[in-house]
Amino acid sequence: MMRGAVMYGPGDVRVEERSDPRIVEATDAIIRLPATCICGSDLWPYRGLDTADWPMVMGHEYVGIVEDVGSEVTTVEPGQFVIGSFWASDNTCEICQAGYQSSCIHRELMGATGTQAELARVPLADGTLVATAEVPPDELVPSFLAASDVLGTGWFGAVAAEAGPGKTVAVVGDGAVGLLGMLAAKQLGAERIIAMSRHEPRQRLAREYGATDIVEERGEDGVAMIKELTNGLGAHSVIEAVGTQESMMQAIRSTRPGGHVGFVGVAHGVDLPGEALFFSHVHLHGGPAPVRRFLPELIDLIWNRQIDPGKVFDLQLPLDEAAEGYQAMDRRQAIKVLLHP
Ligand SMILES: [Zn+2]
Repeated sequence: MMRGAVMYGPGDVRVEERSDPRIVEATDAIIRLPATCICGSDLWPYRGLDTADWPMVMGHEYVGIVEDVGSEVTTVEPGQFVIGSFWASDNTCEICQAGYQSSCIHRELMGATGTQAELARVPLADGTLVATAEVPPDELVPSFLAASDVLGTGWFGAVAAEAGPGKTVAVVGDGAVGLLGMLAAKQLGAERIIAMSRHEPRQRLAREYGATDIVEERGEDGVAMIKELTNGLGAHSVIEAVGTQESMMQAIRSTRPGGHVGFVGVAHGVDLPGEALFFSHVHLHGGPAPVRRFLPELIDLIWNRQIDPGKVFDLQLPLDEAAEGYQAMDRRQAIKVLLHP
């Protein structure tokens, strides 16, 4: 038996004994997690804003040491440290080859087995997992864990928004994904990065990750501030990292004609007005991030200590205190919580 987090209903997270995951398909791997974490998207069911089949096992972000592999697995072996994404993918179909592994024709959602636990089963191990050259030192584990979702998602947001040299990038949302979108925009060479945040500790981390300007206003006023900072034009690139109607419209309206919105906040009740969209001249691209596309590059950047995405974990707790972790993120007392199984 192992320990794992289970949500029984809104606001009700318990850590309990669950049976050990085991190899089901010949393409599976079983990993032991040195650390796991709570995602901003886990707060949707926690707040009762997602319908769910209770009880549900929690967690879709993971790193781990391979314990066991199925008979058809060839690229990873027991003892290796591996990182994967929340969608397991074969990494060979046409969609994967085009860089959209999160829409792989064989994709499987990791949340089905739950990674806020001591052990996890990873389907399609060859396509999903990337092994590091050696087992990393402990201090790099949080950064690799961040690469599994929030860094990869922020990175996709920046790529989808076409952040790059000479560009002004605005970021709507100051959660872990938004903050790491700023880090990505900086790595991609953006000239100016505007963080939309009204929360002082997050503003500090935003600046550390490359934000050059902070806008505290929201809605109409936020859009007006972005325009004021960009000669009335709007930003070239806007990363949307919240997923509400308000944040999506704020992103679209903060973008200059011809500019790009990368939307990576999981959309909840977003309904785009066709006419406003038609006249905006804005490119929209986003969705569940194909994190697997970016993993090799992100792993190198972390291994060489060029980026430190693990700083988004501002609270670390034992797995048994997962409920406290959810509460802290729900109350915005923590940006992101790392759990030690
Ligand atoms: Zn595929």
